[in-house]
Amino acid sequence: MPKKPAVYDLSLSDWETLLARWGQPRYRAKQVWSWLYRKLVTSPAQMTSLPKALRQQLEDGVRWYIPRVLAQQESMDGETRKDLLAMEDGEQVEVVLMRYIERRSACISTQVGCAMGCKFCATGQMGFRRNLTAGEIVAQVLHVARELQSQGQKLTNVVLMGMGEPLLNYKHTLAAVRRLIHPDGFQMGQRRITLSTSGIAPQIYRLADEGLQINLAVSLHAATDDLRNELMPINRKYNLNALFSAVQQYINVTNRRVTFEWIMIDGVNDTREQAEALAARLGGMLAHVNLIPMNPTTNYAGRPSTPEAIAEFTKVLERRHIPYTTRLRRGLDINAGCGQLRSAYQGE
Ligand code: SAH
Ligand code: SF4
Repeated sequence: MPKKPAVYDLSLSDWETLLARWGQPRYRAKQVWSWLYRKLVTSPAQMTSLPKALRQQLEDGVRWYIPRVLAQQESMDGETRKDLLAMEDGEQVEVVLMRYIERRSACISTQVGCAMGCKFCATGQMGFRRNLTAGEIVAQVLHVARELQSQGQKLTNVVLMGMGEPLLNYKHTLAAVRRLIHPDGFQMGQRRITLSTSGIAPQIYRLADEGLQINLAVSLHAATDDLRNELMPINRKYNLNALFSAVQQYINVTNRRVTFEWIMIDGVNDTREQAEALAARLGGMLAHVNLIPMNPTTNYAGRPSTPEAIAEFTKVLERRHIPYTTRLRRGLDINAGCGQLRSAYQGE
């Protein structure tokens, strides 16, 4: 017997096929879809507009696994909440809810672990375990949305910036994005979704051609190949020239402004030389720099930059007219840096 499908792995047309096989009228698929993605229910019993027999059939014919919360941390100011979720096979991923004045963002994972091996990153330090399915990616968003729903609030933004490299789990990540923006379903605005990548150049070209209007963020962290090779091994495969060509193409096709993420590491990438190299790369580009204080991790000796170094760095960007923001690091007191809760939970 084929394995039963997992509830969030099914697209609307998958539901249509499945329900047709059960002899149901076509409109039932949209009804189920609406219960799942608009009302956010977690079991067929709650789908009260459906006939009882169908609810039973759904119960028996589909896997209703909803990720379980294993550990939870809340920042002192209560603005940031981080949950460690267990998937059906016991693998664990992190999801973070960040509340700003007007925004409530879910930061979600696309892989368990990550193969990219960036030196400063807790997820990179744990290595790669497996890709998440589209359903597992979507389930994280729904988890946060339900939590907000219970407080009478709505999720406004989704950032694919948790554990893993989204562009190396391309198919499932894109299926999840399409699920989230579906007009009959969750209805997340495309411009409210941000995908962050370490720079998988060929996949950036591919993403440009998807006909989407989502935001692209690139984790840059160094503006010379020497330094980037050291911090982010992926740069040895796709160097800065290759990466910037791909990003420029993304901008040309989508007309979207791209964000470059830059975690400030004391004495490593907060130098004048790096600031100048960054400005030279970005001059004239539809781009924006996000300067982020680094979160210390167990297996990396780097430390956050001093306020003086940050001020010097931003002076160069200002002089060269490069738009930037210095982002508040959310939830520092709860290790909200990517991969850090899981590491702590496992005592790694
Ligand atoms: N793999 C993707 C998305 C997940 S990482 C990527 O690299 O873009 C999400 C963000 O967290 C990246 O910008 C990454 O560089 C950053 N990050 C990783 N380790 C960090 C640390 N120790 N302190 C601050 N930011 C970190
Ligand atoms: Fe992977 Fe991103 Fe961490 Fe690099 S920064 S190891 S790409 S999750």
